[in-house]
Amino acid sequence: MSDELILQAADIEQWDAQADVVVIGLGAAGVCASIEAQAAGVSVHVLERASGAGGTTALAAGHLYLGGGTRVQKACGIEDSVEDMYNYIMAVTPNPAECEEKIRLYCEQSVDHFNWLVDQGVPFKDSIYEEKAVVQPTDDCLIWSGNEKVWPYSEKATPAPRGHKVQREGEQGGSLLIEVLVKNLETLGATIEYDCGAKALVVDDTGQVVGVSYKQFGEMKTVKADKGVVLACGGFTQNKEMLAEYAPVMTQGVTPYSNPNDKGIGIQFGQALGAGIAHMGGLLVTSAFYPPASMLKGILINKHGKRFVNEDSYHGRTAALSLEQDDGIVYHIADEATYGKPTMMGQELIDGYETVEEIEVALELPQGSLVETMTNYNKHAENGEDPEMHKYRDWIQPLKSPFAVTQLSLGKSFYMGFTLGGLTVSIDGEVLKEDGRVIDGLYAAGACASNIAQDSNGYSSGTCIGESTFFGRRVGKRVAAEV
Ligand SMILES: Cc1cc2nc3c(=O)[nH]c(=O)nc-3n(C[C@H](O)[C@H](O)[C@H](O)COP(=O)(O)OP(=O)(O)OC[C@H]3O[C@@H](n4cnc5c(N)ncnc54)[C@H](O)[C@@H]3O)c2cc1C
Repeated sequence: MSDELILQAADIEQWDAQADVVVIGLGAAGVCASIEAQAAGVSVHVLERASGAGGTTALAAGHLYLGGGTRVQKACGIEDSVEDMYNYIMAVTPNPAECEEKIRLYCEQSVDHFNWLVDQGVPFKDSIYEEKAVVQPTDDCLIWSGNEKVWPYSEKATPAPRGHKVQREGEQGGSLLIEVLVKNLETLGATIEYDCGAKALVVDDTGQVVGVSYKQFGEMKTVKADKGVVLACGGFTQNKEMLAEYAPVMTQGVTPYSNPNDKGIGIQFGQALGAGIAHMGGLLVTSAFYPPASMLKGILINKHGKRFVNEDSYHGRTAALSLEQDDGIVYHIADEATYGKPTMMGQELIDGYETVEEIEVALELPQGSLVETMTNYNKHAENGEDPEMHKYRDWIQPLKSPFAVTQLSLGKSFYMGFTLGGLTVSIDGEVLKEDGRVIDGLYAAGACASNIAQDSNGYSSGTCIGESTFFGRRVGKRVAAEV
């Protein structure tokens, strides 16, 4: 047990405040946990380290991965079922058995969760953005936000778009989500304190978590939690030591991207009490080379001149597989008809070339390697087929001279990422020890807990806020019911 992160209740002479539930962090997970707990009739005291609410959620585009027949899906004529959503998430998740029960529940209650958000006043427009994009630039709601139409997943479940963006133009949906939910929490009467960084958990002599010690404007304070403490204080994207230990690629060319308080303290609190951790190497990484969507009609090659991914994959999957290539070297080859400067991350055009042989020389690829790759690709593309990588037919067309080569290599192209791993928790958010036993009085949700998202290869946009809000709510109800 760490001395710094854990204090003994016996050593607290007088508590500065008291509530039934203390929530650390006011992002998506914290606000949802707090709303449900307060709505269940117990008192909630929120500690937020920043001067305002939102955390990384407020930086987010505001996609939530929801399906099974939401109001928006129906209004847009999209057929979806709980079973297809479940089969899809099970298929993309690297280790689905580990969280099968959570995936099942998340899919079964997805429509209810959407309706709850709507009842809270979170706006979603009954519209779909049809183009392949990372984020819709409009205030449209639905988008294909994962690998649903991408082989082999397209064969495991009937594809449906499930990325639901909060109704705000461009990338500001997350901040609107927070604005609406925090207002509701204030109306419910929760105590919310900003500029309060949690520094330690307080445990009683049975080991139960009974409070939090925190710092506000240089002054140390304590708050007693009669029913429990909820960790909702984000991931560890901004903690260099933890990244070096668990997700080293984030210190080797991938830019960490999240709010500055994303220091992993929730995970450290749990670990100090013997909690287990899961998928700590799991990241969402991206170096999206689309939009423009026409770029998906090009091909991606590695330093051996070989393709390694169906280019129409979700950008997180492509980036994850790109990072696995030798020396992180990846190039994108397009032609006059398909090239467009990537608008999302601005990757640089290396040059234009008349022949494939010239590209081989310029990129120092093995002689003949790209000629073989391109000949093979074009031969099948003439028939709208891609037997090598199974790119979807909409994105297949032969590439003709002159060619445009774009740099997508790690270190030379912008990659960004954030962490997905966290504390092991039960389906109700109880923090679990390595041996599976519950740590009394301690709960976690959002980016500091490991629920559904495991890695970039299997990620779909909207999973993080989807699970942060969904399991955040469950935690709130669970801790409120604590006797
Ligand atoms: C650019 C970007 C875009 C994204 N877009 C999407 C998207 O569209 N859809 C999606 O699903 N996911 C998206 N994500 C990921 C997603 O935003 C996060 O995983 C999710 O918002 C995490 O929610 P959270 O409540 O766990 O954490 P946060 O929203 O980060 O909230 C945690 C809060 O805890 C506070 N805190 C930290 N330490 C302390 C402490 N010691 N004491 C008190 N408070 C503390 C922080 O200040 C913060 O306010 C995106 C991520 C990024 C970086």
